[in-house]
Amino acid sequence: MFFSFDGIDGVGKTTQMQLFCDWLVEQRHEVVSCRDPGSTPLGERIRELLLSSDEATPIEARSEMLLYMAARAQLVDEIVQPALDEGKLVVSDRFLLANVVYQGYAGGLDIASVRAVGAIATEGLSPDCTFLLDMSPENASERMGDQLDRMESRGNAYRNRLREGFLAEAKLQSKSIHLVDAARSIDVIQAELRNIAGRLLA
Ligand code: ADP
Repeated sequence: MFFSFDGIDGVGKTTQMQLFCDWLVEQRHEVVSCRDPGSTPLGERIRELLLSSDEATPIEARSEMLLYMAARAQLVDEIVQPALDEGKLVVSDRFLLANVVYQGYAGGLDIASVRAVGAIATEGLSPDCTFLLDMSPENASERMGDQLDRMESRGNAYRNRLREGFLAEAKLQSKSIHLVDAARSIDVIQAELRNIAGRLLA
């Protein structure tokens, strides 16, 4: 089974994913965790390109989308699909959904086109369960330190468009995307995630 975590930065994805993986391992599951973009040698190099601010290397919206897609294609081939084939659980920090929302809904690219490229990059593989952590961008910003990367430094208007995009996708894919109120305590949120996953794994 394939799980992913998504949502705007600062909602607690990293925190919740770590606790969630610990729990799966305690339950004696074989777990492979990864991050998208990243986790493969190529993906980590692309991630560095995407997240580092560098005026000497402008990245336009379409190129940006395709770089994410290239990293994801490599992630699927090298890590996700082989792990699933071996019966392991895969937990990914973000996946295609983030690309659709960041570059489509909030970035102005045609959403259907992003999906179409996504289908090629993933060969149709998508998470069985996506935990969409949701809270207001203002509150999420407060949780983050001063260190904003290239994506995070675009401000709250942009982050509000992201939130709306995530919520729209959650409506469209209500079977696989679980909307989770992230403005609660770490423990309460984690309990809800485990509850949802427990039912799916049973
Ligand atoms: P993300 O990976 O979504 O950017 P993080 O897990 O890195 O978010 O969390 C961002 C910050 O907020 C961290 O300092 C983390 O300790 C804190 N944090 C995470 N979840 C909560 C929560 N439920 N309540 C309060 N603070 C939180």
